[in-house]
Amino acid sequence: MRDRVVSLFSNQTDRSLETKQLLESKLRTAGFEVVHSFEQEAELVVCVGGDGAFLQALHQCAFPGIPFLGINTGHLGFFQEYMPDCLDQCIENYRAGSFGIQSLATAQAEVSHSQGKDTLQALNEVVIRTGNSYTVHLNISIGSSFIERFSGDGVCVATPAGSTGYNYSLGGSIVDPRLKVLQVTPIAPMNTTAYRSFTSSLLLPAELSLGVVPEEGFDQIHIAVDSIEKKYDKVMEVRVKISEKTVNLVRFESYDFWNKVKSKFL
Ligand code: NAP
Repeated sequence: MRDRVVSLFSNQTDRSLETKQLLESKLRTAGFEVVHSFEQEAELVVCVGGDGAFLQALHQCAFPGIPFLGINTGHLGFFQEYMPDCLDQCIENYRAGSFGIQSLATAQAEVSHSQGKDTLQALNEVVIRTGNSYTVHLNISIGSSFIERFSGDGVCVATPAGSTGYNYSLGGSIVDPRLKVLQVTPIAPMNTTAYRSFTSSLLLPAELSLGVVPEEGFDQIHIAVDSIEKKYDKVMEVRVKISEKTVNLVRFESYDFWNKVKSKFL
């Protein structure tokens, strides 16, 4: 049994690579074993970069339950808590246990298609759309109730953590991550005498799932989880719900979601 293993990831920018190298040497000096892939014995995953790099590392590690710590060399840094100029403090805080854990809900999409069933996991959002420029018609249900025949470009199903990402650009609301809800936001919905679709976001409680059945003829459906896209030739149904898996982030004790929102958007 190995002790104090840290899996270290980064994106490829000069600043991230420099920070990663420095962090690795500081972690080793502090008594940690540093590896550059995900290992079951790791107690912590550290990711250097922006939110995009964080999401990539999370998918590479397949959403493990152990804590993630983000060093922000990117632009927004919603998931990335620490700045590169406070690596010593960051290691010290971690060793001393002076940090909080923020537990973020994730979304799970079960895709039933002609070849079988896939289960996809997302921290930010699941996007369901066609791969071409045609209008897509999707039959939407909530729980077991049929709700609408959606017409437009597609739908974005965001977690609270993802509400500040693509969802926000689509006109969706920012949701406090302490709320366990899924936000369904239409992408360019059509609302004419011929087609009727909700034009605002819908909020679903944790116990309800969203069902999406593409109408006959929409053979190629693209499903993106945190922008990682998969193409399906024949989709019978996509069911999206809040997953049992959470992503656990190491946060400063002073972390406050709404202060972060203010500093990033206003
Ligand atoms: P990316 O270039 O890695 O990210 C696009 C931008 O979204 C970056 O500025 C990134 O921040 C930011 N971002 C990612 N997750 C966020 C979150 N939860 N809250 C606030 N900002 C967030 O693009 P990608 O690899 O294609 O996609 C990763 C994510 O970016 C997606 O899950 C989606 O939410 C978001 N995205 C947004 C749009 C849009 O707003 N039109 C388009 C595509 C993707 P950093 O600069 O810190 O990396």
